[in-house]
Amino acid sequence: MAELHGACHCGAVRVTLPEAAVGVVVCHCADCQKLHGGSFALFATDRAAARWEGEEHIRWYSSSAANERSFCAQCGSRLAKRPVEGSRIMVSAGLFDLGLKRRVIKNLWEEQKPAWIEAQRVGPISPQDFVALALAEPIQSEDAQYGYSTRMSSGNPKPPGVIALTWIAAADPAERERIRAHSRQATQSFLAEPGFISIVTGFTGLRGFTVTAWEDEASMQRALSGPHRVAMLELFGERFVAAVWTSVWTPTRINRLWLRCVSCGALEDLSDDHRDCTRCHAQLPERPAYW
Ligand SMILES: [Zn+2]
Ligand SMILES: [Zn+2]
Ligand SMILES: [Zn+2]
Repeated sequence: MAELHGACHCGAVRVTLPEAAVGVVVCHCADCQKLHGGSFALFATDRAAARWEGEEHIRWYSSSAANERSFCAQCGSRLAKRPVEGSRIMVSAGLFDLGLKRRVIKNLWEEQKPAWIEAQRVGPISPQDFVALALAEPIQSEDAQYGYSTRMSSGNPKPPGVIALTWIAAADPAERERIRAHSRQATQSFLAEPGFISIVTGFTGLRGFTVTAWEDEASMQRALSGPHRVAMLELFGERFVAAVWTSVWTPTRINRLWLRCVSCGALEDLSDDHRDCTRCHAQLPERPAYW
């Protein structure tokens, strides 16, 4: 696995992070301004995933009730911030190779930044960065939990004959990554099955879900005998995943599929695939897939 290698100014403290560490994130909060002498550019990862050498030179300072910060006792380089409760660690981006091909993907606490500093511009974010961010800081509001979702479509226009609904709970972030790797492989193999329609899948926190549409049960069974089967064997053969539920549903009713005509605004029933608007006769776009 590729890694990021960093060191403090004097070299007494060294750190290794997984390449998948989230960042660069820039924190402009008042605490970081004081403690770093400026904003804090950081990589965030699981505490267990960061490896430190020269730990005897690391000093920790309690910067607030919720957070601790570390620095090198020899040279004073700011090393990291970690919440007192929780499993994550934010490591100074300045410790790493300055030629690293990374961009700023998020500014935190911009409202607290000094008036004389411009926040780093955040450009278009890559799908990988977006997913990493959504997983790194799960957002919860009342009963709603936020995460990310992905749709992968085969382009199969047929109405689904069966729908599979599943959810799976990871015990920790490392396990979640293992589930996501399996899921990527399985989805790629589904595309080889002609009866596959499409899948919507994602994660909120440690809980993954899928909604998968198939032409019929036979096509689903054929596809599930691929890499998906390997995942199921691991799941039942070793200590992998905290909880899981799967189900297969058949439709009670498949309703009409409506599409808005861009010329006249009429809502057209496109279930029969006709391509001219019945009101203005303008050419309609292709009917979207059912799922
Ligand atoms: Zn040092
Ligand atoms: Zn901060
Ligand atoms: Zn029309």
